[in-house]
Amino acid sequence: MRYHESLLSLVGNTPLVRLSKCAEGVEGLLLAKVEYFNPGGSVKDRIALRMVEAAEREGLLRPGGTIVEPTSGNTGVGLAIVAQAKGYRCVFVCPDKVSEDKRNVLKAYGAEVVVCPTAVPPDHPDSYYSVSDRLVKEIEGAWKPDQYSNVNNPLSHYEQTGPEIWEQTEGRITHFVAGIGTGGTITGVGRYLKEVSGGRVQVIGADPEGSVYSGGTGRPYLVEGVGEDFWPTTFDRSVCDRIIAISDHESFELTRRLAREEALLVGGSSGMAVAAALRVGREAGPDAVIVVLLPDGGRGYLSKVFNDSWLLNYGFLRTEGPQTVGEVLR
Ligand code: PMP
Repeated sequence: MRYHESLLSLVGNTPLVRLSKCAEGVEGLLLAKVEYFNPGGSVKDRIALRMVEAAEREGLLRPGGTIVEPTSGNTGVGLAIVAQAKGYRCVFVCPDKVSEDKRNVLKAYGAEVVVCPTAVPPDHPDSYYSVSDRLVKEIEGAWKPDQYSNVNNPLSHYEQTGPEIWEQTEGRITHFVAGIGTGGTITGVGRYLKEVSGGRVQVIGADPEGSVYSGGTGRPYLVEGVGEDFWPTTFDRSVCDRIIAISDHESFELTRRLAREEALLVGGSSGMAVAAALRVGREAGPDAVIVVLLPDGGRGYLSKVFNDSWLLNYGFLRTEGPQTVGEVLR
């Protein structure tokens, strides 16, 4: 019989899929690493598994323990799946800009969710970072993975995601493009690809306009899961050859096109990464092999980027004249 003992052995080994209709103007090969194939639906399953197993080895997490983490949803799902398989309780702290759909997913897995305001600085007592610190102190047996400082976050990508991409492209990858949130993905994958290729592979970060990584002030933007108003230790800037700032508008336009033209129903940070990959691809020659990582699926965003009234509300939709599918976004 062929079966998996649990979902945990299904984490990783996601496919590369060629982007064709969305890749106009790109002479080389544009390949998407589609992370929604992970059992929890996002790239974060990878770091969740590695962070929990390392904490168990180091005695930080013991039987009956509680995992407390500030998370925008995906890391929570990954941690909830790993916690369920291993018998831990989960308490997640989210900023209020995270969609209700995503919070309900966490609750469906049996986790508890605490919601905090987005528009306060990280050191404010109500910020989701501060609240999670307080909960760790108050709950007995609590452990905070802290994806923003945990070395196992970039390490999971250095040891697994990076080698997967190298093998899948038979070492022919020339450019790697990913959005930057904690920076774990780009740091781990980028470092591995730089090392294995002798520095040949170009590593390009994609960042929402307004985020500090691309020189912004930390002002709010709408794309979820990427960009920051501080520099976490999981992000090694020196791995990136370049960081490209992408507007919410362009991120959402590409996100809608990926669903409509490539049948890839993915989140806004995937659209953002593809927008950056297109810029890279249009500058590169016919021999380029560009891999862009798509962090999660789009079902958690049906009431946002895939909802016309929501886009209209933020001024991203044309309001005058007839709208054909291709014209929906201005
Ligand atoms: N996209 C989404 C939807 C995410 O949840 C995250 C993680 N915060 C990222 C992109 C960025 O990945 P990383 O944290 O590895 O930089």
